[in-house]
Amino acid sequence: MGFSKTASVIFDVDGVIVDVSQSYHYAIKNTAEYFLKREVPIEEVRRIKFSRGINNDWLATLEVIREFGGNASLEDIIEVFNELYRSLRDKERLILEREFFERLKALDIPLGIVTGRPREDLFYLFEKYELLPYFECIVDEDTIEQEELRKPHPYALHLCVESLGVEKGIYVGDSLADWLMVRDYRRLYEKPLTYIHVGERIVPEGVRFTSPLNLFEALQEALQNL
Ligand SMILES: [Mg+2]
Repeated sequence: MGFSKTASVIFDVDGVIVDVSQSYHYAIKNTAEYFLKREVPIEEVRRIKFSRGINNDWLATLEVIREFGGNASLEDIIEVFNELYRSLRDKERLILEREFFERLKALDIPLGIVTGRPREDLFYLFEKYELLPYFECIVDEDTIEQEELRKPHPYALHLCVESLGVEKGIYVGDSLADWLMVRDYRRLYEKPLTYIHVGERIVPEGVRFTSPLNLFEALQEALQNL
């Protein structure tokens, strides 16, 4: 099929490539409970995480703590969170397997990652499942020195698009922060980028997908329409 080689597909990681419902979501919950000294329902954690445009899970944890009437310093949150997350990370399971990226690579499309996941945690996952060879560009939480330019700032996306050397593309995300990043990217850099959304409809645009097969078809269609 004749897709333009000036197009790429860029992925968010958590909730798109890997299911973090048993890892990061519980790291937020358990960390918040540690500081609040009371139980926080997991549904409340997910509601706050997905609907408020917060990309970073440490900040999402702070938001949960505040929502339940508590407070803590970000420094203390990070320390507790990281320890809890590392005890949970082997519960993560791939949503998109190697075969999926194999098929996409067969279309001759350069692939990228723009994620808020810290590098150590990203490499732990991608090495475990041998995903690293599929991506020409990875922008993680540690790639950009200036904190204010990291995801969800559109510069993170811009950096990835530029280093892939493409003119246009697709971003696949699963949160309000993902969509806001794409929207701001279009405004700031005045370049086209199609957004595809996974999960609950909490953003005003984007094709939803519910299975990898479904996503592959949505991507093929979007690539043809670029
Ligand atoms: Mg995500």
